[in-house]
Amino acid sequence: MKAMNVILIGPPGSGKGTQAELLRERLGFVHYSTGDVFRDHIARKTPIGLEVEEYVVSGRLVPDETVLEVVNAFLTDNAGKPILFDGFPRTIPQAEGLAGVLAGHHVHVDVAVLVDLSDEEVVRRLTARRQCRNCGRIYNLSFKPPKHEGVCDVCGGDLYQRKDDSEQTIRDRLRVYHEQTEPLIRYYSEQGRLQRVAGELGRDKVYEQVSRMLAGAQER
Ligand code: AMP
Repeated sequence: MKAMNVILIGPPGSGKGTQAELLRERLGFVHYSTGDVFRDHIARKTPIGLEVEEYVVSGRLVPDETVLEVVNAFLTDNAGKPILFDGFPRTIPQAEGLAGVLAGHHVHVDVAVLVDLSDEEVVRRLTARRQCRNCGRIYNLSFKPPKHEGVCDVCGGDLYQRKDDSEQTIRDRLRVYHEQTEPLIRYYSEQGRLQRVAGELGRDKVYEQVSRMLAGAQER
């Protein structure tokens, strides 16, 4: 895989994280999820963790400056590799910040993939989502349940429900998505970099389409 920079945009629960994991395993992308980075800082009680905890728990966006600080540090070590940004950028200033940092490394965003999903489907999926505390693997009680309740199939870790996956917080996160993140669709579309896929299609069909889009973008 050529060193591409790919962005996954989509509402919470659209399957971005699952797709990113597949693309990492099968095509060798570095999967960079700012949500995972923040949850890790919170668990380790670092200064960044203490700063961002109230935002993450309540489903509000962490200030752009803090987000760009962690992304900058990540890119210092990883620019030039094939990278999948999952859950970043989430605002126009973050997208502009990213463009600037990437330009400093002589690269740019190659493709922005929108994984779309209706609000009702988001709520249905996320209230059933569970994650492994140990390895981070994601399950869904409706369509991808673990073999044994509460236990990760892969590592035997404890499965838990993210605090921000309660229905009220999901509704708040959707509102934030529509207000602050959706403008990115137009931003990348105007640059001729946007590709869309319907999240309703499910994991395998979405993967098929996304991998085809990325192969096409590589040839350009
Ligand atoms: P996620 O796992 O991507 O759903 O992110 C979980 C939470 O982390 C979000 O609801 C925000 O509070 C925070 N977060 C993650 N990525 C960003 C970002 N790019 N900008 C602002 N806040 C973020």
